[in-house]
Amino acid sequence: MVKIHNFGAGPAKLPEEVYEIIKDELTNFGGTGISLLETSHRSQTYLKLNTEVQDVVRRLLNVPSNYKILFLAGGGQGQFAAVPLNLISRTGTADYVVTGTWSEKAAKEAKKYGKVNLVLPTTDRHTGIPDVSTWKLDPNASYVHICTNETVHGVEFDFIPDTKGVPLVADMSSNFMSKKIDVSKFGVIYGGAQKNIGTAGVALVIVREDLLNQALPICPSIFDWTITAKNDSILNTPPMFAIYIMGRVLEWIERKGGLDKMAEMATKKSSLVYKMIEESNGFYYAPVAKNSRSKMNIPFRIGSSEGNDVLEKEFLKGAEARGLIQLKGHRMVGGIRASTYNAVTVEEVETLVSYMREFYQQHS
Ligand code: PMP
Repeated sequence: MVKIHNFGAGPAKLPEEVYEIIKDELTNFGGTGISLLETSHRSQTYLKLNTEVQDVVRRLLNVPSNYKILFLAGGGQGQFAAVPLNLISRTGTADYVVTGTWSEKAAKEAKKYGKVNLVLPTTDRHTGIPDVSTWKLDPNASYVHICTNETVHGVEFDFIPDTKGVPLVADMSSNFMSKKIDVSKFGVIYGGAQKNIGTAGVALVIVREDLLNQALPICPSIFDWTITAKNDSILNTPPMFAIYIMGRVLEWIERKGGLDKMAEMATKKSSLVYKMIEESNGFYYAPVAKNSRSKMNIPFRIGSSEGNDVLEKEFLKGAEARGLIQLKGHRMVGGIRASTYNAVTVEEVETLVSYMREFYQQHS
């Protein structure tokens, strides 16, 4: 069978070493003789794991002591609701910086709970991040929401915007733990785990303590960060297995050299693909402005900026035959998308790039 190289955008490839660990621990977790899948969430076993996973998050991101680390069910979109439910009460209004599909969805969800100010002019072609000097920020906003990496459009922040004291809230679902970040510049950081840090079912939320205690009265308890923090993320039965896998993935990141190493690899991998695109004399087309190009999700078209349907289908078919899978662009934008998360190796990206070169040479 041909070796598979998974470039999916999420749920995405997990490190092979982590699978080995999961296999070993599946039916006998920590010497208990039973699986974590059948262990009480109130047991000492789970309480220990719950603390260990928080600790590795804190170590990797150097999370300051005035931030809580929470695990919540409901994935990234659960937090699209939880963010306004927990934060919008202060002024009733929030700023949303829409740079792609996901921040757009987040803004739409927030409108259910308060007034939403769109900081940027609306567009459905997201190809970059306008200079902060042009942003229409509302000084009265309860918070400013950004998505640091737009998974569909491949638009990534390479800076942290100055929001003039208004708490900055960031959806990091698709670039969490891909590089070091200064957590103290954010009020809240959140993300679903199923891309860079684990599997579906859990959102990791890092919240500054002074932003607790202001949830709207209608906020469901399981989405209330204050109640979740008080209960150490064990208010109800948490998505324990997803939290466990996240822990094992984060420990793998630590063993591999931490976030500096992940960042170095991400730059190396994404540069290989972007370089191939640049060298193709317009055969491959990357829509995103150079300073906002994602190191995690690389969307591109073939033939022209609009894409050539026949060539793109042929590219994907040839890719699958070589074991290069899940490269189809998101259904909203079409084309091709290569996701190069932490678990994807440099060798795998090299295999993709050599196929891109071969395809280009055949068709140009
Ligand atoms: N934010 C971003 C940036 C995403 O990529 C996704 C999922 N692709 C989400 C939010 C939504 O996550 P979930 O499917 O876990 O609700």
